[in-house]
Amino acid sequence: MPKKQKFEWTDELVMEFARANTEGSYRFNGESKISKKLEIFKNQKEHQPKGQICCMCDNKFDGYGNNAEPLKAGICCDCCNTEVIMARVMGTLKTITDDYEKNKSNGKTNI
Ligand SMILES: [Zn+2]
Repeated sequence: MPKKQKFEWTDELVMEFARANTEGSYRFNGESKISKKLEIFKNQKEHQPKGQICCMCDNKFDGYGNNAEPLKAGICCDCCNTEVIMARVMGTLKTITDDYEKNKSNGKTNI
């Protein structure tokens, strides 16, 4: 059981809440009231894991981290996650272009 941390608002947390808020209510168990969202956010932060090691840069980070696939199997920090997202976008793009090229050589151009 992780130790409960005292919650204090920092600039980073305010930014994170603002960002999470734009992701929609699914991030807050479907709640749409701001007071409820704040409560859930605080609760998540108080119980979040601390000092996880990023599988990509080996740095310590707080929070749940991100799935590092397809670059690595494991959890990565938010910083490395931009790289992971880029790799996924590029991967999807490649699938689309490959499909397009395949269809084109078969005489189908509308995908
Ligand atoms: Zn990292």
